[in-house]
Order: sequence, then structure tokens, then C-alpha cells
Amino acid sequence: MPEEIIVKNFSSYEEIAALDGFEEEKGVSTDNYADIAGHYHLSDSLRCCRVLESGGLCHQKHNYGFVVALKSGGFSILGNRCALSKFAKDSKVRIAADRYEKERKRQEAIDGLRKIFSEKKERIETLSISLNYVYELYKYMRNIKDSLPMLCKFSLEDMARSGKRNVAVSLVYRHYYIDKESGEKKHEDTDGVHTVGTISAISLFNKNSFEEPLKNLRESLKLLENFHRVDEKATELQAKRFAAGIMGSEQAIRIKQDFEKLYLELNKVKPGVISALCKELDDRVATSKIFLQAKGMPHSNSKARQEITNLQEEIVEQTGAYKVIYG
Ligand SMILES: [Zn+2]
Repeated sequence: MPEEIIVKNFSSYEEIAALDGFEEEKGVSTDNYADIAGHYHLSDSLRCCRVLESGGLCHQKHNYGFVVALKSGGFSILGNRCALSKFAKDSKVRIAADRYEKERKRQEAIDGLRKIFSEKKERIETLSISLNYVYELYKYMRNIKDSLPMLCKFSLEDMARSGKRNVAVSLVYRHYYIDKESGEKKHEDTDGVHTVGTISAISLFNKNSFEEPLKNLRESLKLLENFHRVDEKATELQAKRFAAGIMGSEQAIRIKQDFEKLYLELNKVKPGVISALCKELDDRVATSKIFLQAKGMPHSNSKARQEITNLQEEIVEQTGAYKVIYG
């Protein structure tokens, strides 16, 4: 069994300098190296004390390195790059630095697990709230889609899949003129297109928008609920993989907020605009009724019809079109 590696983090230069026998600019070589006493990650850079072949010191500036115990009983420092790559692979320094580094990374990964474990209750709560919201909204959207006239539902789903957000209608413009030869009044038609509005929350009509967040939230909750103790023996990879499978609270909150925003945006869209996706008047009325109801507004047949009439009048007024073709 290899001896246990004690990972010791020095949190300041003062703490290192206070070591009994620490000497600044004390060269470290394979000859005087005894052991690794710890490591440091500092915002101030230190200078590496590896002895070069020329006899001088490396002096490379670094923020991350090792505190090294010397055979003389004193201490010095080595930058991480030198300790981990500049000594011969089979040298005592290199072997110890590699093992220390591996254990340090492993313990950091285990610390990550400890943190998740200590926040377990709060995380479960936050993730559950988010999951519940997203799932309720998913069901709400499914119900709305299922109650819509089929062609309107298909149009919305197609838009959601392609990311298209504008609702447009076709127009017919009629131009009147007097025929020069006969003197009769005649007309000529031209086509046009007009955007009646935008459904910026169109992604709510795509069930795929819900699937991944729902899956991630559910899987994370399952892992959290079965997380009964921190496995101190886990490898770095095992610990990292486990931690990566569990969604953080911030992400869960952000997911909920994003869906809340989409829901609010959807509620701002005029029912008439969505109904303009339907070719038939009856379908437009039915669609308008469903979205009036979804917004919590009066939604009798006559109210729904009024939305349709209002939109038609608006379009004609804005464009001067002779005819509006929906769907
Ligand atoms: Zn160095």
C-alpha cells in the first residue's frame, strides 16, 4: 500500500514563510529534496526555486506551486510546471509531485461532492419547484394545442420547429382604371404579404423545448434523493461525473425564469394574431376563443368573433388591401 498523501493547502505566502526553516531563494534539486509539504494557489506570483543545470535558480513566476521539505530540515518552493515536468520521470520529486497532484485533484472533486451533499435539502427543494413549474406549463401548452383546430396546431408546431415567429397573411390589392378604348371601368389585382404580428414565445409550441429541461431536472432529483453519503474513496473521475449529473440550483432557477418569461410573452400576443394562421373563419373563431380563455378574458363566441373582425379591419386599414387571405 502506498503511504497516504496528506494534502495541505497554504493559503498565503506568510503561512509558507512562517514554516520553521523556510528560506527564500533556497534552491531545490533532486539532491536536497525530501518531501512535499503542501501546495498553494495564490493571487500574488512567487518565483520557482528549482536549481538549473547551470547552478542558478529557475525564477519563473507562478501562482500555483508546491511547498517542499528539504533534507536539511528547511523548506522552499517549486512552481507546479517545474515540479511536474522538469525533473526526471523516475526522480523522487517528480513521482511525489505527480502523486500529490492526483490526490489534490481527487480531494477537490470530493469537496465538490461534500458541497452538494451539504446543500442537498435546498437543492431538492429548488429543483422540485422548477420541475413542477416546467411540467405544469408543459401540460398547459399540451392542452391548448390539443384543443386548437388541427391545422392551426400544425402551423404553430411547424413555426416552433423552424424557429419562425412572424404570422403573415396574403393580401390582394385591387386597382381600378378606365379602359381607354371602351371607356369602361375595369380592375386589375396584385398580390402582397403582410405581417400581422409576432409570436416570440413560439418555442412553447415545441414539446422538445420542454423535454431536455424536464429530463435533466428529473435525473438530478433522482440522484440527489439517492445521495446518502459522500464516497471518500471515489476517484476524481467518479466524483466529477457524479457531480456533473446533478443540476445546480442557479441553473434550475434560470430554467424556471426562462419559461416564466416565455409564458408572459405568449400572453401578450393578441388572440387574433394567432388565429390568423387558420384558413377557415370557423377555425379562426375557435382559435381566438381558446386564447381569450387562456388569457383569462371573456371568451364567448361573439367576443372571439369580434377579435377576428378587429384584426381584419386593422389589416385593411393599414394596408388598403381589397382582400385578406389567412392561413
Ligand atoms: Zn521553475
